[in-house]
Amino acid sequence: MTIVTDRALLRCNNMSKKPRASWIETLTPALSTRSAEVGDKAARLAVALASDLPVSQGFVITQSACAVISAKLPKELQLNLREVLTELASQAGGTYGDPSRPLLLALRISAPENCPNPVDGILNVGLNDGTLAGLAQSSGDPRFAAECYRHFIQNYAHVVLGDDPVAFEEVLALFCEERGYLSEHEITGNDARELVSRFKGQYAANNSEAFPEDVFVQLEQSILALLRAWRAPRARAQRRLQGAAEDASCAIFVQAMTFGNLGEDSGMVRVTSRDAATGQAHVSGRFVKSVQGPDLSMKLAQAQDFSSLPDQVRKVLQVAVNKLESALGEPLDMECVLSRGVISIVAVKKAKLSTSATLNTLVDLVAKGHLQQEQALLRIDPISLDQLLHTTLSPDAVRQILATGLPASPGAVSGQVIFDAEEARKLAAAGEAVILVRPETLPEDIRGLHAADGVLTTRGGMTSHAAVIARGMGKPCVAGASTLRIDVQAGTLSGPSMVVNKGDMITLDGSTGQVLIGQQPVLKPQLSGNFATLLTWADAHRRMGVRANAETVQDARMARDLGAEGIGLCRSEHMFFEGERLLAIREMILADREKDRRAALAKTLPMLRADFAALFEIMAGLPVTLRLLDPPLHEFLPDAAADVEALARAIGTDVAATKRRIHDMHEQNPMLGHRGVRLLLSFPEIVDMQARAIFEAVTDVIRTTGRPPIPEIMVPLVVSRAEFDQVRVRIDAAAREVQSETGMTFDFRVGTMIELPRAALRAGDIAQSAEFFSFGTNDLTQTTFGISRDDSARFIGEYTARGIFTQDPFVSIDIDGVGELLELAVKRGRKSRPGIHLGICGEHGGDPKSIAFCEALGLDYVSCSPFRVPIARLAAAQASLRKLQK
Ligand code: PEP
Ligand code: MG
Repeated sequence: MTIVTDRALLRCNNMSKKPRASWIETLTPALSTRSAEVGDKAARLAVALASDLPVSQGFVITQSACAVISAKLPKELQLNLREVLTELASQAGGTYGDPSRPLLLALRISAPENCPNPVDGILNVGLNDGTLAGLAQSSGDPRFAAECYRHFIQNYAHVVLGDDPVAFEEVLALFCEERGYLSEHEITGNDARELVSRFKGQYAANNSEAFPEDVFVQLEQSILALLRAWRAPRARAQRRLQGAAEDASCAIFVQAMTFGNLGEDSGMVRVTSRDAATGQAHVSGRFVKSVQGPDLSMKLAQAQDFSSLPDQVRKVLQVAVNKLESALGEPLDMECVLSRGVISIVAVKKAKLSTSATLNTLVDLVAKGHLQQEQALLRIDPISLDQLLHTTLSPDAVRQILATGLPASPGAVSGQVIFDAEEARKLAAAGEAVILVRPETLPEDIRGLHAADGVLTTRGGMTSHAAVIARGMGKPCVAGASTLRIDVQAGTLSGPSMVVNKGDMITLDGSTGQVLIGQQPVLKPQLSGNFATLLTWADAHRRMGVRANAETVQDARMARDLGAEGIGLCRSEHMFFEGERLLAIREMILADREKDRRAALAKTLPMLRADFAALFEIMAGLPVTLRLLDPPLHEFLPDAAADVEALARAIGTDVAATKRRIHDMHEQNPMLGHRGVRLLLSFPEIVDMQARAIFEAVTDVIRTTGRPPIPEIMVPLVVSRAEFDQVRVRIDAAAREVQSETGMTFDFRVGTMIELPRAALRAGDIAQSAEFFSFGTNDLTQTTFGISRDDSARFIGEYTARGIFTQDPFVSIDIDGVGELLELAVKRGRKSRPGIHLGICGEHGGDPKSIAFCEALGLDYVSCSPFRVPIARLAAAQASLRKLQK
């Protein structure tokens, strides 16, 4: 009994007495490999140290230490801080809190890699009435010392206590006016001291307490304040918005102060290693004279070109940034303090270049041997490749925003507002630029969609009809812009504060979801040779295949050009959306007797056969997954009375009877109604016709090209093996018939989509019959969440803003919920049929985070819209490389 208590006590003591090494790390070159513990900022400065470049001394309060700090600093950490400050004193010259030779500190957050840091640092920590005199003496400049003290009081009041800095600015402005100073730098002598007193008075008035003179209180409170700011809702929201982990932890980097406000030969410099537009090696820089941080970017507005610096200083900066670029293997922005001509590097960041410039830089760095291919692949955000494939809004565009919707399909385009698909088609044929604006699009809008330059809808989410089709076509689309009202009668499109008329020009930015007033300048995509080089490297490093979702010849060609290794989803219903086929399928739907349905379907067979054959030829021996008809049949039928009448006339039926039949087919909830395999079981003649068209196309292609296609026939919306089996029997029968008619043999696979929770649960059973699974994560997300994919846009934004969802589950797979179903289905499917072929064809197949999850599951391929193929190739390579790194 006693022994147990003793051990427990011992463990508690050990936990609270963390060894100093895990709480504080002194800045040394060795930290360059420890960014997980010391944060990106400190790790990069350690690289600068390792490259023999000037960095002022410091230490890091590590991420594990910061993670345990809450209301106050643990005792041991306080002791460790005193120890490390003594060490720093011996290196930096000056002692913390010593009035004769004071050491002052700069405290900044060192965030994890690729994690935004919106928290300002705190500079000049350690100044009080006593150390002020010491600073004045050691610098030989009392004016400068008083200025530092003022800045510190203001900075501390703002970051530690949340005071509004404007109150201090007003004290300064009033003082200058009173005493006739034109600039704060002119304030010297007694006036400088008097101004410090006024700042302290302002501090006391704001906070009902005096400014703390104890330098250890200053240090402790500054550390706590930085952590509070890092954990505050504003910083969390910023991280979430930029796709970083909301609850990421950080380290705190403490450095001996270097002063950029020591006069004419002091200041701050930012040097960039590459040309921002092209990525060519070209060092440029900006210099702000006599200034102190923390927010250099704001001060850079008043900056001069760094050519104004002495040649020698400029040369040192050029050499330094090139050396660092080679060591870090990426384009860089280097920030330095110039203190009476002496350079000290304070930050090394990845330069923000255009995607093509980043890509060119990385390929150049690999060619020069500064970077491995694998590293280069991990340094580019796959989503940023979109910029290379689509038009983008020019930086000169005027962003007068009519509304913001979902960024459903990237690219920027201007065109006239048109509310009707047919009118859009006619105007486009006459050479006009057109934006088709609809509440939502329907299959019958397909021709208008094809013709329009861009699509805007006021309803529907990221997987709505308009979004899916537009992405497939590579056309800009903003979906679900729910603050817009369309009034077709009045010919207006009204936003919350502006109205445009039919025929007016608007511009869509499909990458941000913004709808802008007027025609705006756009930049054309540029595919450089380096783009192809990077993707070739990606192909060599990825395990998963990448296919495309495509049904037209145009999409399939585009997909091949962009590197797709087959078709992962051909939504065969899209082949019925136009002209004669649409009429024939409508005739089939409206027919009462099987005989008439078969006759109507027979009309579409030759067209479908030709379409399938064209896809097989383009894919030349690569797999092509053809999905049997999936949507509810009424999706093919017109709504408007005049259209129904025209249809009745065209197929020779009675108008009233046709209206009645359409009315009878109405479903309350069509997405959960008579669609997919349910429809195929009710109308098996559809299966017979589609399977025959596919197999006849296979034999045609074997005859014409000699190369056998690899057809994969896919049954949608299955929930049980029995459903699947009853459709499969007909597919097999059609294959036998075509084989015996033609005397030819061919291979094919029959599989199913897993897109309903029950299908995932019963995957073991279904895999007894199905040769492959393709995860339809659009419907699987819809049915797992019970959230309509077409209506989610109205509230998903609020869910993500409130932090209920970290991201839209229709964009990036919900790993905790939908992901668990996928995991289960993979496991159960493989158990019944080892080696079962597994892929994903929902929109998530083009999302890098979801692709990483697919890699973790060991799927064989991902399939996505043609324009997402390059993104998926890179993301799949990154996922493989990261898995290897683990
Ligand atoms: C899916 O549900 O994920 C899918 C690919 O099918 P569709 O989007 O056509 O419903
Ligand atoms: Mg589906």
